[in-house]
Amino acid sequence: MNGKRFIIITGGVISGIGKGTTAASIGRMLKEQGLRVGVLKIDPYLNIDAGTMNPDQHGEVFVTEDGYEADLDLGHYERFLGENMSARNNLTAGQAYFSVIENERKGKYLGSTVQIIPHLTEEIKNRIMNINGDVIIVEIGGTVGDIEGEVFLEAIRELKLELPRNSVFFIHLTFVPYLEVTSEFKTKPTQQSVQLLRRIGIQPDMIIARSHRKLDENAKNKIALFSGIRPAYVIGIEDLPSIYQIPERLFLEGVHFKIGGYIGLDMKNEFNWDTPKNDKNVSIALVGKYTGTDDAYKSVMESLVLAGAPKPEIVDSVTLERYSDEEVDAILAKYDGLIIPGGFGSRGIEGKIRAIKYAREKDVPLLGLCLGMQLMVVEYARNVLGLEDANSTEFAKDTPHPVIDKMEEQKRILKMGGTMRLGSQKAKLIKGTVIHEIYGRDEISERHRHRYEINLDAIPQLKDADSDPELSNMRISATSQFVEAVEISDKRFFIGVQYHPEYKSKVGAPHPLFKRFVEVCTEKS
Ligand code: GLN
Repeated sequence: MNGKRFIIITGGVISGIGKGTTAASIGRMLKEQGLRVGVLKIDPYLNIDAGTMNPDQHGEVFVTEDGYEADLDLGHYERFLGENMSARNNLTAGQAYFSVIENERKGKYLGSTVQIIPHLTEEIKNRIMNINGDVIIVEIGGTVGDIEGEVFLEAIRELKLELPRNSVFFIHLTFVPYLEVTSEFKTKPTQQSVQLLRRIGIQPDMIIARSHRKLDENAKNKIALFSGIRPAYVIGIEDLPSIYQIPERLFLEGVHFKIGGYIGLDMKNEFNWDTPKNDKNVSIALVGKYTGTDDAYKSVMESLVLAGAPKPEIVDSVTLERYSDEEVDAILAKYDGLIIPGGFGSRGIEGKIRAIKYAREKDVPLLGLCLGMQLMVVEYARNVLGLEDANSTEFAKDTPHPVIDKMEEQKRILKMGGTMRLGSQKAKLIKGTVIHEIYGRDEISERHRHRYEINLDAIPQLKDADSDPELSNMRISATSQFVEAVEISDKRFFIGVQYHPEYKSKVGAPHPLFKRFVEVCTEKS
């Protein structure tokens, strides 16, 4: 083959209809054809990265190996493609503008008026062209018509003209509502969304129409007619029980042949894809404060699903604070295991601590992630070691027992964006611990995103598993220059990690900690 091919994926009508998972599924399908697939997720917001955004509105922040704080869609690409993404795979409007303005100050455009076209579009085109691969998937966040997205569509329109014929394939993903009263699909929003695209000079080559129930031929034909697309290039995907069924579904619709035919790549009728089966009969609670959208804990949820569990239920840590101990017990009693995820700020902290106390006392499997681990230490300090009012200085600056405190290097940092301890770092696992046995090796590399750490000066009782053979004590089980994991070894599963294993689960390769956690939850006590 000669020259890179580009598959541009835009969204229409509404957001949240699975553009990221569909794009990642197409990527996986093409990878199975032996092609090298590159990815660029474009986010038209002005933030430099997703690190400072509220997960309740925007979904989780996904952290890459190189410590980039990305939009959660990079997580879909990692899980579906089975490959690690990096900062290069995400472009925000903020980055594009920042770079143009920096260049202007350096004198790169001396003499010219710096403009959206051609300077900003040039910057965007360069970022797209610099992605390596045979086929590059470019997913544009948001929906067509958003004012922030226009410059990206303009850049891509130009790119299509500059590249050899048939090297750019446009897919528009829309939503087709079904009207119960008249028993019909309504295609008008899709038609209008295509019109918006055309107005800026882009004619889609394929439409993927998402709908709650299976789209009928009538609706497909109508969309085809009004959008100037052959009916075979209108693909309907109704709600499926699992997002991991999308790749197979697209394959069965022959989407690879349709794309391949257009961009001149031979495709085989083969697809190696094992849809993960989340058939384990367990019920897991995720005790968290972001209850606005499932997306806020995306990677944790997908890690559980990839380990065979059904989606966990979110138990609101803020409301948990209002109940009596007996009520907390009653609320949590129906779950086979608890996860305390990462988070920031004091809201809901005491609710999480109560859930941890419940799990420790009742020996219910518990996995603490980052903030979750920090709170396991706080709970242990208060309720087992008797260090009254022990806390993290993130929540109580004047606590008499600051068992969690800001990392030394973080105390000097005043800026907020991109300044945490971020990305992949190595840690040693201590022999004889549960975590060492789970990983089956001495050294691990895991991704981080935090400012606080365990402060051993305030909790000297916490010792290395090496030096404290007492299995019922909370012991340090992994270290780097920081404490990286703690556990109470004789519990069914009571492990807290300072890092985020959830970012590393892939389809067919769930993270070992989640895998074991789900296994233990399955063995009913
Ligand atoms: N807020 C805590 C810290 O900064 C935990 C962060 C997290 O859970 N990612 O250390």
